[in-house]
Amino acid sequence: MTISSNLKKISSQIEAAALSAGRDVSDIRLVAVSKTKPASMVDEAVRAGQSIFGENYVQEFIAKAAEVTSAVEWHFIGHLQSNKVKYIAGIATMIHSVDRLSLAQEIDRQWGRIGKVCTILIQVNVSGESTKSGTTSEEAVMLVRQVALLQNIRICGLMTMPPFFDDPEAARPFFRELRVLAQEIELLAIPGVSIKELSMGMSGDFEAAIAEGATLVRIGSAIFGSR
Ligand SMILES: *Cc1c(COP(=O)(O)O)cnc(C)c1O
Repeated sequence: MTISSNLKKISSQIEAAALSAGRDVSDIRLVAVSKTKPASMVDEAVRAGQSIFGENYVQEFIAKAAEVTSAVEWHFIGHLQSNKVKYIAGIATMIHSVDRLSLAQEIDRQWGRIGKVCTILIQVNVSGESTKSGTTSEEAVMLVRQVALLQNIRICGLMTMPPFFDDPEAARPFFRELRVLAQEIELLAIPGVSIKELSMGMSGDFEAAIAEGATLVRIGSAIFGSR
């Protein structure tokens, strides 16, 4: 299978999942997760029409971003250490993995230095698994309120990674929980906060995530092959 045919297959699966959920397919964007894969594969995906790419590791990300010359939109989706934020300022257009105030403060500082606003998602650990990053559902509202006060950050949604299941349907309650939490936060009408994006669903479970309202699906291995 080529990257181009994988992308075609995934977009028709996204379309079918949107249709059966009664959703508009244009409300769902594909983030092609290119971690561990070379810039040449990103270029190949760009030629096939893909424009948003997700990366997890700062060093690898900045090297690849320098190599890819097409105008792509980079999303940072991995665990982020505060001391590395400075390297990705202005390169990442969205950070999906903001899970603590200290990280948000550093993003605010670094984006402030370049005179830009960083669009972010709050990562929520809905399952409560100790091995997963993310704020708890209980703490999420407080974190949103605190981050909302920062000048150079705009919160536009939530992200989650459910536990791994062989059966993707088993992940659905976690996707649903993220959607319900997003609705609860929207109802609070916190100034400057708009929870429109739900980043959830990967290669194995994106259709279930779309059924529960995903607006950003992060798909790696189904596009670029196993890692
Ligand atoms: C690697 C990764 C993905 C993509 O996973 P696949 O199973 O390869 O589709 C999505 N989200 C995050 C946060 C990841 O680290």
